[in-house]
Amino acid sequence: MNPDVVPGARPGTQLLLLEDDPAIAQTVQFALQREGFHVEICGWLHEARARLSAGAPAAAILDVGLPDGSGLDLCRELRAGPLAHLPILMLSARSEEMDKVLGLELGADDYLAKPFSPRELVARVRALLRRAATPPPAAAAPAGLAQAFVLEGEGSRLRFHGELLQLTRRELGLLLKLLEAPQRIHSRELLLDAVWGQDADSSDRTVDTHIKTLRAKLRALRPELDPIRTHRGLGYSLE
Ligand code: CA
Repeated sequence: MNPDVVPGARPGTQLLLLEDDPAIAQTVQFALQREGFHVEICGWLHEARARLSAGAPAAAILDVGLPDGSGLDLCRELRAGPLAHLPILMLSARSEEMDKVLGLELGADDYLAKPFSPRELVARVRALLRRAATPPPAAAAPAGLAQAFVLEGEGSRLRFHGELLQLTRRELGLLLKLLEAPQRIHSRELLLDAVWGQDADSSDRTVDTHIKTLRAKLRALRPELDPIRTHRGLGYSLE
């Protein structure tokens, strides 16, 4: 057995890659095929539509900027059709497009901003397939989080898996803000506004620092969990 092949991908798992840049497409294909996936590349939107209508892959990786349209449109179409539950990872070079992916809630499961490392992409695809294979869909994550975090003392204390968290006021504020809409990505600006308000001494770094201490406190209680997710350049969400 090849020691480089991490177990997990069932050999021959079919993936669709919609990417018009041949260099990126080949790098991604190579990285995924090394891990046992079978990757079909489409360079055009119409090609991907035709391919998807012929049968569903295990997951689709969609670039946003394509010569005959936008991957965002395809994502929206898929979510409205028979492939509504197809795991989708979006790729884009432009962060404003990613804002659209998230802001318009087009239904992509994840995204990667270019440039990305093939290793990161493989990890994201694996996570996508793992989530897709785990039953209770849709409401599962928020319900799980609601069970993990229990608010007490009229919102002044928070328990994490039954254990009382020793949080500063700002850390508690951050966590409560994230819990309001766990799967939404909260930008640093939004979190600053919500938790620090007009406090003149705060900056984006302030948020990062507090997220770091918050993570450490959660990890101290449940080392195997890391519910705060960092979205590089965009902000934070809960998982
Ligand atoms: Ca492109």
